[in-house]
Amino acid sequence: MVDKNKLNAQLDALRQNFIEQLPKRLDALESGLQCWRQTLDESALADFHRAAHSLTGAGATFGCEALSNVARALEHQLVSADLAQDLDGLEMLLQQVRLAMQQAGQEQNKEGVELPAVAVLPKSHYGRVVYLLEDEGQGGKNLAVQLSHFGYKTEKFASASELVAATRGRRPAAIIAEIVLVEGGLAGIDVIKAINAELADPVPAIFISDRCDFEARLESVRAGGRAYFKKPLAIESLVDVLDELTSAEEVQPYRILVVDDSKSQAIYYASLLSQVGMEAEVVVDPEKVLAAIDEFSPELVLMDVYMPYCSGVELAAVIRQQPAYLGLPIVFLSAETNRNIQLDAMSTGGDDFLSKPIKPVNLIKSVSIRAERYRGLGSRMSQDSLTGLLNHRRIMEYLTQEMARIRRHGGCASFAMLDIDYFKLVNDNHGHAVGDRVIKSLARLLKQRLRNTDIVGRYGGEEFAVIMSETPLTAAVKVMDDIRQGFAELLHNAGDQNITVTLSVGVAAAPAISDVGELREMADQMLYQAKRQGRNQVVAVDPSD
Ligand code: GH3
Ligand code: MG
Ligand code: MG
Repeated sequence: MVDKNKLNAQLDALRQNFIEQLPKRLDALESGLQCWRQTLDESALADFHRAAHSLTGAGATFGCEALSNVARALEHQLVSADLAQDLDGLEMLLQQVRLAMQQAGQEQNKEGVELPAVAVLPKSHYGRVVYLLEDEGQGGKNLAVQLSHFGYKTEKFASASELVAATRGRRPAAIIAEIVLVEGGLAGIDVIKAINAELADPVPAIFISDRCDFEARLESVRAGGRAYFKKPLAIESLVDVLDELTSAEEVQPYRILVVDDSKSQAIYYASLLSQVGMEAEVVVDPEKVLAAIDEFSPELVLMDVYMPYCSGVELAAVIRQQPAYLGLPIVFLSAETNRNIQLDAMSTGGDDFLSKPIKPVNLIKSVSIRAERYRGLGSRMSQDSLTGLLNHRRIMEYLTQEMARIRRHGGCASFAMLDIDYFKLVNDNHGHAVGDRVIKSLARLLKQRLRNTDIVGRYGGEEFAVIMSETPLTAAVKVMDDIRQGFAELLHNAGDQNITVTLSVGVAAAPAISDVGELREMADQMLYQAKRQGRNQVVAVDPSD
């Protein structure tokens, strides 16, 4: 949730700091004017202009609009053709700036910041608890174990009345109910109807049964059932439905890079964005922008236009020189109101031009809309269609990024390659569709079992790759071994029987190996060794080698 009080306190502190620094800014303007009058030198004028422009932007950002407006007038005067002939005019404007500064110092802080009512991207907090209604001896324990591999915690109830009582206490993410109970041939459906009759927002129900006649199916629909599975259960399909019902996938916050040579303004905008759930990083030195993009991999760059060392427009062009960042949205944020200059900036690589002052709500909207579109595009281009995981190219890009991070900042990472054992036999004996389902369930298991910071990709065919950031080799081996065991216990539905499948894993770690190619090669060799040693195991480089 948005913590408005905390944000307002932060923003007040920034604004206070701006006000306290006003005398310094005035000094800069006054000495700028003096210096230029003495020398009539171009570079002195440029410094003067920069000081005025910076005041325009900061004034607009920190709620001192009157001050920002006179600073803007001064700024315009400085680029006018007859500047040298109208020194009095310049003096007058400077006097107005002095007055506006005094005023700004006396003004009470404005009312709090207007923010969207809810965070733009709240992290999902959906429960993963599922209630299961089955009589004793109907095999519910096994189903619970299977579901636990996919991150669902199952609570089992043996009678309708127990289930009703539990639902009153705590609402589950979904209810899976057997239709035929000792109470009657449609008792499972009746109890769901009774439970949901009491609720404004019904709990999603999935029905399971040996029974699959028309009456049972019709009644299940009338009870609002979301799915109906005949036993023996196709676990993967059941989990697909559960995943859909619980939207279990964590939403990652948008990553926004804020580039502004004024640190206080950069922090101001970054804190606005982070308060609504985005992840914002600040760069004040244009020279560091490329490295920051490599490492942080932002989904949008919010960029100041006037900076001392190079302009935002030039910086955008430098970013666009790299093919990988051609599509990265760049949004300019500046006190510049001249539409021609704005259009110019956009034609050289910007996607949007926002003018200061901008209402927080509008800034957040513009940023999130573009970041969302970019993410949508990116995921379509970088995802494998069967599993939704990253594809080979993306996973190697991430690995390269991760190695660059380690080289620069130290730390460690592990890289694992997984390959399903005797997968060709699964296809040959049970058909390609069953094989596809096995691949999907491994993908799902990986997504469930790994941390959000881990990166999972389908490397190709029945091979997967995982990058575990800040994870040393021994810890990575343990994680992979858990996954190996979990996968081996999964039952895959193959026609009228259930089959089990195993996998082998090779792991290697950085910085012991610091080259991307070598790391991949080593993980591959370890995988090969795991296969040779009998499969269904994890093999890692012996660190003492
Ligand atoms: P090993 O234990 O040595 O890994 O044996 P294996 O049979 O798994 O290895 P191999 O690489 O010989 O066979 C992999 C098979 O995976 C061959 C290919 O047809 C199949 N395969 C690759 N991609 C897919 C896919 O997307 N779906 C299905 N169903 N099968 C696939
Ligand atoms: Mg294989
Ligand atoms: Mg293979």
